[in-house]
Amino acid sequence: MDVRGSSPLSPTIIQGDKLASMDLKTQIIGLVRLQELDSEIYALGNERAAKPQEIKAMEDAFELKKLDLAALEKKSLDLQKQRKEKELELAANVEGVKKLNGQLFSLKTNKEFQTMQKQIADAQADGSVIEEKILILFEESDKIKAQIDSENLKLKAEEDIFLRQKKEIESRSAEIGGRLSQLDAQRKQVIPGIDPKMLREYERILHSRDGLAMVTVKDSSCGGCHMLVPPQVINLIKMYEHIITCEVCNRILYITE
Ligand SMILES: [Zn+2]
Repeated sequence: MDVRGSSPLSPTIIQGDKLASMDLKTQIIGLVRLQELDSEIYALGNERAAKPQEIKAMEDAFELKKLDLAALEKKSLDLQKQRKEKELELAANVEGVKKLNGQLFSLKTNKEFQTMQKQIADAQADGSVIEEKILILFEESDKIKAQIDSENLKLKAEEDIFLRQKKEIESRSAEIGGRLSQLDAQRKQVIPGIDPKMLREYERILHSRDGLAMVTVKDSSCGGCHMLVPPQVINLIKMYEHIITCEVCNRILYITE
């Protein structure tokens, strides 16, 4: 039913097929009312559709933090393991020194005695190095444990925030659901007053134009795409003989009086 002109700014006219019982102005008012409802329906629908992604993003961020904590806990266990190994090493070293000391008295020559004394001194030096290493491992363990405690506290606080936000999102989704039912009921009241053919055209534009089918002309420009609406088109709109759509964005133009 579209009759398009050749000039890029000429209007598209949808022939209002014998709208005998309902005049076009009343139709336009009905469609504007419908658009108000549909704009809110679209906005709420988009808001609700984004909610699962919001929750997922929060969950992912929270899971990452848990992984960080798990890495710290693993590091702490590794340190304990290293320390146990060093403690075993130290015990063996002490045992070795004791054994060498015991052998000192069975030695026959002065040279053997001196060699053994040197061996003992070396083993004791090794033992000191191991002891130092054990102390360092203790300190590192303490540091990591403090870090784990503080991260645990932080994580607990973040979990509380996360759960609260999740609840808020869920309750907002439910609220949106309730509002959408109201809007749908209001829509059902408006629809019988609109010519079915016009309604179909309106809905076609609505769905192809991101939820906005009815736009006002303000300061000679289309409220949808902001392109210039020439005076002769404005005159056509004011005549209310046909539905006039914007040549650029195809939305239905109307004028607020
Ligand atoms: Zn436009």
